[in-house]
Amino acid sequence: MNQTTEVCIAGGGVSGCAAAIASARNGAKTILIEESGYLGGSLTLCGVGPMMTFFSGDNQVIKGIGEEIVSRLKAINGSSGHVEDTTKYVSFLTPFSSEKLKLVLDEMMEETGVTVLFHTSVAEAKSEDSNITMVTVCNCEGLSTIQADIFIDATGDGDLAAMSGAPMTKGREGDHKMQPMTMNVKYCNVDISELKMYLVEHIEEFPRLKGKEELIHSKKPFCMAGFAKEMKAAIDRGELSFPREELLLFETDVPGEVIVNTTRIIGLDPTKANDLSMAEKLGRKQCYELDLFLRCEIPGFAKAVLEFTGPKIGARSSRQLAGVYTLTAEDIISCKSFPSKICKSAYPIDIHNPNGVGTESAFLSDTDTFYELPFEILYCKEINNLLVTGRCVSASFEAQAAIRVTPSAFALGQAAGTAAALCIRKSSKISELNVKELQEVLIQQDVVL
Ligand SMILES: Cc1cc2nc3c(=O)[nH]c(=O)nc-3n(C[C@H](O)[C@H](O)[C@H](O)COP(=O)(O)OP(=O)(O)OC[C@H]3O[C@@H](n4cnc5c(N)ncnc54)[C@H](O)[C@@H]3O)c2cc1C
Repeated sequence: MNQTTEVCIAGGGVSGCAAAIASARNGAKTILIEESGYLGGSLTLCGVGPMMTFFSGDNQVIKGIGEEIVSRLKAINGSSGHVEDTTKYVSFLTPFSSEKLKLVLDEMMEETGVTVLFHTSVAEAKSEDSNITMVTVCNCEGLSTIQADIFIDATGDGDLAAMSGAPMTKGREGDHKMQPMTMNVKYCNVDISELKMYLVEHIEEFPRLKGKEELIHSKKPFCMAGFAKEMKAAIDRGELSFPREELLLFETDVPGEVIVNTTRIIGLDPTKANDLSMAEKLGRKQCYELDLFLRCEIPGFAKAVLEFTGPKIGARSSRQLAGVYTLTAEDIISCKSFPSKICKSAYPIDIHNPNGVGTESAFLSDTDTFYELPFEILYCKEINNLLVTGRCVSASFEAQAAIRVTPSAFALGQAAGTAAALCIRKSSKISELNVKELQEVLIQQDVVL
């Protein structure tokens, strides 16, 4: 069925969801298109968790719709809220139940009157005079069209923006390589006490935990990075075929349940169908190797039950919009202020090596500081009625490696959805929107600016 709306959003990850809620709450008729059967994107589709981070030191710099969702999850025992990061990579992280997140997001779409089309993919965009006039979507009814005044690309990979002819970049400057993909694995029945006992007894081997033994004993969900020696030995023996320097795992709110974020698929492009298909197969193969490794080598895993992989391979980076402003690593590290700020964030630059072993981080100079993200990273000069949000906004490879995480995606989504609704209300072009007014509405709606 062909449809007409005011705001049409492609992609129901956290950024698209926040955009849809914000757009509808601010009065715009909104359609959200999602190619899977539930909302949440990487968090529900790729086994990603916990959300990290809403904080800069002890200071919460991201609130708004993201925080509202955490509160709703807490109210139904779907999250223990913001807990100290036992790896000390950030100050606080936020575990959650992915099943309850799906429910909360469904509920919020219903409450705000957003029309959600599941199992629907954006397949084509038609542009005329620098405006997208309609998108063609594909679902169980075949092909149909959606016309809208404003389109928001929240597909993570910038699918809609690329289809509309917006200028895009891919990968890092020079060789255009992207961060590796990872297939996360979720386990239950892990003996966390046995794992923790081993860590305490071998604390010298876990430098990040040294001196913070009290965190190991905390009853809050536990996370850790380590076992580098065991990983390297398994790689040298040919038992692990992928280049990862250490095991990274996060306990969820469910006792004994952990997310293992360790596989690494390099050299494949998530925006190419053949590469993506190959990555799914390689990801499963690596997860199987990892499963054998965990059972033999890692305390607490002997009787663990592998719950699931995927269902979709996780892509950290792919296409980025080449927008009116491109955020840089320097902006992040120098904690640059922007008069047109739409949100803050404090997650460091976190680059998984596109070539093999190694993960490179660049932290902000001070633990209590933050950087700002400007409105101009959400749109380009070439397409008048397109906003882009989430991990595919306009940012260099390095800057994207800082803002790609869930809390920033929520904040960027809320800004994009609010901006879209204001453009409709004021009959304004995106590029001519009064950013002061946008900032006032965001502050009224609990965004930290
Ligand atoms: C392996 C891995 C580990 C990570 N670990 C963490 C972590 O520990 N903490 C953290 O906070 N972040 C983590 N991240 C980052 C984080 O998960 C995401 O970058 C963030 O959630 C991005 O949200 P998004 O809404 O921009 O995009 P996505 O979550 O990618 O959502 C995009 C949505 O768009 C849909 N879609 C795509 N194309 C189309 C189309 N053509 N038509 C219709 N729908 C479409 C998809 O199905 C999906 O639902 C990790 C990412 C990966 C890959």
